[in-house]
Amino acid sequence: MALIVQKYGGSSVGNVERIKRVAKNISNTRSQGNQMVVVVSAVADTTDELISLAKQINPKPSSREMDMLLATGEQVSIALLAMALEAINVPVISFTGPQVGIITDNVHTKARIKQINTEKIEGELAKDKVVIVAGFQGKTIDDEITTLGRGGSDTTAVALAAALKADLCEIYTDVEGVFTTDPRIVPKASKLDRITYDEMLELATLGAKVLHPRSVELAKLYDVKLCVRSSFVNKEGTFVVKNQLIEKDLVVTGLAYDLNVAKIGVFDVPDEPGIASKIFDGLAVANINVDMIVQSAMRNNINDIAFTVPKDDLDKALQIVEEIGKEIGASEITHADDLAKVSIVGAGMISSPGVAAKMFHILAENNINIEMISTSEIKVSCIIKSNEVEKAIQALHDGFELDKINS
Ligand code: ADP
Ligand code: ASP
Ligand code: MG
Repeated sequence: MALIVQKYGGSSVGNVERIKRVAKNISNTRSQGNQMVVVVSAVADTTDELISLAKQINPKPSSREMDMLLATGEQVSIALLAMALEAINVPVISFTGPQVGIITDNVHTKARIKQINTEKIEGELAKDKVVIVAGFQGKTIDDEITTLGRGGSDTTAVALAAALKADLCEIYTDVEGVFTTDPRIVPKASKLDRITYDEMLELATLGAKVLHPRSVELAKLYDVKLCVRSSFVNKEGTFVVKNQLIEKDLVVTGLAYDLNVAKIGVFDVPDEPGIASKIFDGLAVANINVDMIVQSAMRNNINDIAFTVPKDDLDKALQIVEEIGKEIGASEITHADDLAKVSIVGAGMISSPGVAAKMFHILAENNINIEMISTSEIKVSCIIKSNEVEKAIQALHDGFELDKINS
């Protein structure tokens, strides 16, 4: 008997018909003799609607109360899915994250899972029940409700699969698998049969929403067999695997874009040890992720520093940087949020010189200005204006011939 963890995203449980269809899929998998743990997201746009409701009441709500609110979305969908299974006579029980012992740190709205107590789930599985668990949520050791960051239900599923030593973790979503880029922007994007954990981690971190970055990290760490597939069509999806032979001279495997990018500039700071550390320590203490950092060439012992943070954190980051800016004597602090990051990813890049140059060339040919650049062994990212993202992704997809990847 295999233990399978399945996760269904928001659009997969978007209406009554879809919830019934998911129940049928669960019932079919179970009747093939499998034990099942099922993680569900909030119904379709629920989380967005709750955020918008909160902001109408208080533009800067505390993150604790935000978690209290957002965790309700998944509580609705677990109960509805359990009812749909009851209706077709499948023994089932649903639990919230806190109820089932998903313990996180105390960083509200972007908590990380620290530990999962599996006894409760194992007890119900032993009673032959399908166990449904609310995605995206947990609790601290002090019983405070937390959420894992947008898209975090994937992470709940993979963390449960790891803790329960499941045989397979299937992520059911509204596309047929992982594509060379977002198929909504490039309709001729190719579906990948397999992608390595490292490539998937880069794509997810760089903005490909299809998997939450932390879920890929955990899958890699705990060797979880992970697959992304469609809720709507019964086709084999994409397997996320350890190693992949680099076939057909595949240098670039995928493209990602991220619109959640803002830039902060700090001007005329003294060129002396400790300045960068002051700025970035302050942001780290506030749990703000700094991404790209550029320090201009020093002139007359004076530097400019620019860096990017998630747009969601811009207000908080500016407050901190303005404080520190006064302390270190910066002449001006600027910010911009009409930006986006486009990235190319591929494990084969490491041994192929000229890939970054080709990316810059394609962007230049399309008159797209690059504001910042960063590279690693398997990716190159550029910050551009957000209104040029679609043009950039289309041009890069064509330029790197990604539509030919599986042919
Ligand atoms: P769910 O609600 O099922 O978790 P998400 O909206 O979080 O679904 O993720 C699926 C979406 O990710 C797709 O609808 C697609 O628009 C987007 N996406 C972005 N990049 C990719 C990619 N490389 N491959 C597949 N989907 C992608
Ligand atoms: N409901 C949450 C969100 O919309 C978590 C998830 O869907 O994975 O971000
Ligand atoms: Mg998602």
